[in-house]
Amino acid sequence: MMRPLVALVGRPNVGKSTLFNRLVGHRQAIVAAQPGLTRDRLYGITEWRGRELAVVDTAGLQSEGDGSPQAQTRVAIKEAEIILLLLDTRAGLTPADQDVAALLRRSGRPVIVVANKADDRGRAYFEHELLELGLGAVSRISGQHGIGVDDLLDRILELLPPAEEVEERSAGGAKIAI
Ligand code: GDP
Repeated sequence: MMRPLVALVGRPNVGKSTLFNRLVGHRQAIVAAQPGLTRDRLYGITEWRGRELAVVDTAGLQSEGDGSPQAQTRVAIKEAEIILLLLDTRAGLTPADQDVAALLRRSGRPVIVVANKADDRGRAYFEHELLELGLGAVSRISGQHGIGVDDLLDRILELLPPAEEVEERSAGGAKIAI
């Protein structure tokens, strides 16, 4: 079965692996060996409203360049159906975040901006700051506490093409089957 791939991108410590674990839960992550990669990748499967999604934490991707957030983001742009750009409400917006956002903007790929660690009330204005990234509406979540994750999954489903179209495209060989 073809599962649309959702990639988690963002600089270290924004909470990618915490969100990955929340989405994938106790279900074992799948190692997909891809030719040309220096490492196998860890994918997980999550299910929401009857639809299965593959999730990859790009921190585990080392196929291009130096493993930097920018290099990981390029892999996500190439392969993912939807990209979640994670940002840290506690830390605010950093130059590294801006660089990744710029790459994503140029790619034209579907992106959801995620203000993670929203359990921290210290920066109520952060969401408005993130709108200036020009990547659309911001989802406020706490991956650690599970706040806002259901709404985020709903947004992902809304952005996805219908399941049949994903199947057709995969038949054309454009996407990897997971
Ligand atoms: P990654 O490097 O992007 O994969 O980030 P991690 O998932 O390893 O998280 C980095 C740190 O942020 C860890 O100490 C997590 O416990 C913490 N963290 C992750 N998500 C949240 C959250 O929603 N709220 C808070 N307060 N801390 C979080």
